[in-house]
Amino acid sequence: MQIITSAKELQTILKQVGGTVGFVPTMGALHEGHVSLIKQARTQNDVVVVSIFVNPTQFLQGEDLDKYPRKEEADRKICELSGVDYLFLPQVDEMYGKDEVFVEAPLVRGYILEGATRPGHFSGVLTVVLKLLHIVSPSRAYFGKKDAQQLFLIEEMVRNLFLDVEIVPCETMRESDGLALSSRNVYLSKEERKEALKISSSLNLARSLVTKGELESEKIIEAMKKRLEPLEVEYLVVVNRRFESIKQVVIGDTIVLVEAIVGSTRLLDNIWL
Ligand code: AMP
Repeated sequence: MQIITSAKELQTILKQVGGTVGFVPTMGALHEGHVSLIKQARTQNDVVVVSIFVNPTQFLQGEDLDKYPRKEEADRKICELSGVDYLFLPQVDEMYGKDEVFVEAPLVRGYILEGATRPGHFSGVLTVVLKLLHIVSPSRAYFGKKDAQQLFLIEEMVRNLFLDVEIVPCETMRESDGLALSSRNVYLSKEERKEALKISSSLNLARSLVTKGELESEKIIEAMKKRLEPLEVEYLVVVNRRFESIKQVVIGDTIVLVEAIVGSTRLLDNIWL
């Protein structure tokens, strides 16, 4: 595995390698969720590139940019063991200059849900993803369904800007008790971790209600809210795959999304129905 910190150098190398390139962008503190993306990229491509970059422009003021978990040594080992060919580790000044062109997230679907609690967050995400896609020029790029709105907006950007890359959505990896893996889980105390299980449990409840024939969004949301008590729920919605609110679940075209605050940690999860 080769570690590269310069964007130009990575671009030059990747222009010379033949075959397909699979790319997995991350912010590090890698866990089994990231590894599943890397493994999928490994099986589908000749060359695998992973980036680790804690992107400052997607953090709002007062968010956890400075204390976001950084585990460079462990991350390198995980990448090496997962069969990564090139690990891109840029510094902030390699990725950003001053007074730059900046991508603006769609004004409606970039500013609802996660974009409403974190206004501007998705503009930062799309900006860094666009930069990374231009540096790597991958055949395929891998993103988790766990960050469903992010995945949707990246797919939109690829469509809107006619980018020549296949976006591959990847399943959410969970602990054995259901908690969705997240780099931010390290913030949870033992007690909070237990409380956090209510999130995946509420989504399982939604699935079982739908299986039993309950398709009304309002009823599903009501039942989930009870299951989530006493957590502070930031949002709990039933949307179609285009992120429009829907009154009735349509099997094969629905996502139920939850964001809840456990202690002081904001946790996201969702289920695709
Ligand atoms: P992050 O490092 O949090 O920016 O995540 C990098 C990529 O890993 C994103 O595409 C995430 O959606 C994905 N990811 C994060 N958590 C999980 C998970 N539990 N299962 C699958 N993919 C995940």
